[in-house]
Parts: sequence; structure tokens; C-alpha cells
Amino acid sequence: MKIVCLDLEGVLVPEIWIAFSERTGIPELRRTTRDEPDYDKLMQFRLDILARHQLGLKDIQQVIGAMGPLPGAREFLDALREDYEVIILSDTFYEFAHPLMRQLAWPTLFCHSLETSADGMVVDYHLRMPEQKREAVKRFREMNFTVVAAGDSYNDTKMLGEAHAGILFHPPENVIREFPQYPVTRTYPELRTQIDQAFARLAG
Ligand SMILES: [Mg+2]
Repeated sequence: MKIVCLDLEGVLVPEIWIAFSERTGIPELRRTTRDEPDYDKLMQFRLDILARHQLGLKDIQQVIGAMGPLPGAREFLDALREDYEVIILSDTFYEFAHPLMRQLAWPTLFCHSLETSADGMVVDYHLRMPEQKREAVKRFREMNFTVVAAGDSYNDTKMLGEAHAGILFHPPENVIREFPQYPVTRTYPELRTQIDQAFARLAG
């Protein structure tokens, strides 16, 4: 009865907006919640840019598909899924993640969704619920699962806190400083070792 909850971007795949910005040569799309803390404003800004550049969902998916997962992610995930239930909890959108999920052999993903118009332009976004990463972990615990969670960033820290054990993967320095309670891993073998050790500790 063990579940591993993993963040997606920065853990298994590149940061989607940043990689997308690089591949399309549209620097404004690098803007993140650090530059614009109002998420709705940030998303409207992004959707306006996509429309202005005439980038429909098909074009976007093509670019994202060519990014591919991070090196070694598929092998790490395949091996992990042999031993644990694995759920990916992400703040991205199904429509963006789709080409990457194919390359990861369709693991279970809980995230948000986009709305497209009849001509394939992205016109709106829908967050399934607030704080879904933390809420999902909370529900798994209520279902008597032992949960180990791993992520790389601020938006994962509530999920790590809600899990029986939390692990940081490739986090920025400020997250390491602010959350010294979580072990820091930088490679997939290290992450796998920490996951196994956490479950062993929790069972003992
Ligand atoms: Mg992340």
C-alpha cells in the first residue's frame, strides 16, 4: 500500500514554458510566477502571446513532443512503477503534457486542463482545484496508503509536507535553505535510494 507522488516539470521533464520559449524563440514566454505572482494574469499573458504568434495547440504539442523527457527519466520511472504505485501530481495541463506522457509510457497524471476553440487555438485554462498536489496526498493517506513524495520546487513543498516522507530532487538553492528538513537528491539513482529508504523507515 505504497504510493510515490512525483512532480513532473524539473523532475521527469524540462520546465515546459521555459523549454517552449527557447524552442520557439519567444523570450516573453520565460516569464514565471516569480516575475508575475498573479497566476491568472500570467496565464492570460501567455495565452495572448500564443494567439499573437498564431500558435495553436497542435503546433504547441509538436514543439513539446520534440523536447522529450529528461535523460534517464523513462528508465527511472519504469523501474519505480515495478515496485510502487506512482502518481504524477503536476500544475501543468493535460494538453501540454500529452506528448511527453507518451514518451514516458502513459504514467498516471493528475493536472489541469486547457480549453481550445474550434480552430485549435488555446483560449482558456481550467484549474481542477486549488492546492491539488497537497489535497491528493491527503486523500491517498485517508485511503491508508503510505505516501512518499518528491519534487523540485516551491509548489511541491506543501505536497512534501503532507506526505509521510518528502524528498527534494534537483532543487534551487533557496528551496534547499528554506526547507532543510527534506533530503536533497540530484540524480535518479539517488532519488530512488531515498525513496526506498523512506519506505523502509516508515515500515520499521
Ligand atoms: Mg517542478
